[in-house]
Amino acid sequence: MVRSISLNIYADEQMGLKYDDHEFLAIGILLIPEAKHDKIINDLLNLRCLNEKNTHGWYWNYEDCPAKDICKPMYHKYNNVEIHYKKIKNHDSRFKIAKRWLRYVKSETIPFSILYINLTNLSAERFGQELWHQNVYNRFFRTNLKFALRTFFFNGSYDKIVVNAIFHDMSEGLKKHSYFEIKNPKKVEKELNGNLLGGKHVIMPDKVTFIESDHKKSDSKKESQLVQLTDLLLGVVTQNIFYTARNNNAKKELAMIIRPVIVDFFENPYRGFYYKRNISFFPKYPIQDAEFMFQDLEGSIRIETRKNLFYRDISLKMPSVREKGQLSLESWFDKA
Ligand SMILES: [Zn+2]
Repeated sequence: MVRSISLNIYADEQMGLKYDDHEFLAIGILLIPEAKHDKIINDLLNLRCLNEKNTHGWYWNYEDCPAKDICKPMYHKYNNVEIHYKKIKNHDSRFKIAKRWLRYVKSETIPFSILYINLTNLSAERFGQELWHQNVYNRFFRTNLKFALRTFFFNGSYDKIVVNAIFHDMSEGLKKHSYFEIKNPKKVEKELNGNLLGGKHVIMPDKVTFIESDHKKSDSKKESQLVQLTDLLLGVVTQNIFYTARNNNAKKELAMIIRPVIVDFFENPYRGFYYKRNISFFPKYPIQDAEFMFQDLEGSIRIETRKNLFYRDISLKMPSVREKGQLSLESWFDKA
């Protein structure tokens, strides 16, 4: 019997990250099994209702809200906000929903994989702004996706993976290059199937679907929730590692929610893989002949098994933050 799993992929990117004197590009994906997809979206939506007395969950319109008597139209307006990491500034409803969502990512162990490309070691400046997306993003988008599919699902668990759809945050830069949208998914399929043994195989969708992360502007309100979650998770993981927002207490507080997951992952990546989590950096050393490396990546996935080029031995730039009157999470873990 063929053991098969169907998934949706949600993807987002982050550019211009600095760590010491190195520049990074981040590619983050969530891998959502079809069997859990509807429940996860409903849970995310219900977490939007911040009215503690309401037991009915989230309704888009105040008029439909079963808790109408103890609710207000303006709460629906506030809670209907796009959860966009960049826009988090204070302890408003966006922050409160983000906090709930991140706790949910932990408790439900939502599968994710984040790849930080060390552009300085890649000498990526030689490729110019236009070619970045063609050469660097396209290739490492595949690298990250292939790694996650193989490690999370082909590792003894499944013989066949069907990726129903890849949703990507609307990005004009990427959309301009039809290569990413049209050719990249099938290229993943070809590369992965060429290297899998024992009848294992993957089926990829025909194209990447670009959607608006803001559900108020989106054709698929529900899928936009998971694009927002991808953006949020990528934002807080990056905040811990790169300390991107040094004077934003709300962001620090959110970063602390996910911090134990990151610390635990770097301590024991193999346990992390078991929980379908990955955070990787690439490459560890400067690669002089990037063209050669790209050819290698094109032709095979050999480079992914060269462990010395992937690395995870980094320290978190963001210092541990205490919530008012509470011990920091780390000190709690030290005691436990
Ligand atoms: Zn309500």
